[in-house]
Amino acid sequence: MSATIIDGKAFAAKVREQVAGHVQRLKDENGLIPGLAVVLVGEDPASQVYVKSKGKQTTEVGMNSFEHKLPADTPEADLLALIDHLNKDATVHGILVQLPLPGHLNSDLVINSIDPAKDVDGFHISNVGLLGTGQKSMVPCTPLGCLMMLRDHLGSLSGLNAVVVGRSNIVGKPMAQLLLGDSCTVTIAHSRTKDLGAVCRQADILVAAVGRPEMIPGDWVKPGATVIDVGINRIDAPEKGEGKTRLVGDVHFESAAAVAGAITPVPGGVGPMTIACLLANTLTAACRANGLAEPQGLTA
Ligand code: NAP
Repeated sequence: MSATIIDGKAFAAKVREQVAGHVQRLKDENGLIPGLAVVLVGEDPASQVYVKSKGKQTTEVGMNSFEHKLPADTPEADLLALIDHLNKDATVHGILVQLPLPGHLNSDLVINSIDPAKDVDGFHISNVGLLGTGQKSMVPCTPLGCLMMLRDHLGSLSGLNAVVVGRSNIVGKPMAQLLLGDSCTVTIAHSRTKDLGAVCRQADILVAAVGRPEMIPGDWVKPGATVIDVGINRIDAPEKGEGKTRLVGDVHFESAAAVAGAITPVPGGVGPMTIACLLANTLTAACRANGLAEPQGLTA
């Protein structure tokens, strides 16, 4: 293996430490405690784990965590009423509605009912538009985490060829916007892209956000490229024992690491950065809401 491993776990710990320092200063100098409200509808096991982890990390950096757990059959009007209440609550600076929502709820309607200034997931249509037009916005957490790691590793991204594989609204598209904002030449690839291998081989920065285990082999990676693997896929791992599983990314790690200049592992790469960026966004939102200078280096 020749690639440098980009340690997302360590980087996320550094981001959380920075956030905690700023939170302490806000308390001491402004009597302000940033607050994050997380709304969970239903009992999806993965969502419950995420929400628990978000709550824990929020309080660990000294912020207030408000959890709202609603039954799976919550009427849309009740959920919208809760969001309206949180929008008006001055102690709440960030609101996150855990996705996916149960089928009877209209996710777009729900997300777009959040005050854009409190939309710490960055999914509100206003924030999508602000990001797309290069204005100050709330930036989606996972692509923000990727951008932070890229800037930290590469310094300037200007002029580099970036290929983003995946065009989802939560990862691929905002990732491409952020890379464009940092003056990369950006290609967005997807399931209809012709000769994806040849497209990927052009990339100085290759971001994989597909959701297909180990789909991108080493021979699609340009020698020396920086590879960011967003994928989180659980596969069978009979070598660990019967019925055991393990997590892998969208990139075939061993073969890609032999060619790349740097690569994020799975687990321990992009994953830990996502919640760290959620905390950073909540801090940024609290500063903006109170007319205070926002911390440097914690947003796009
Ligand atoms: P998604 O909404 O399912 O989007 C997947 C994208 O990959 C689509 O644009 C799809 O293209 C494209 N795609 C599918 N098969 C392809 C193929 N064979 N060749 C090229 N492109 C292909 O997924 P997502 O929400 O963006 O998530 C992507 C991955 O990131 C998942 O593994 C997810 O678990 C992970 N993730 C991780 C984090 C984190 O915190 N680390 C956060 C979010 C997501 P079409 O549009 O043409 O269908």
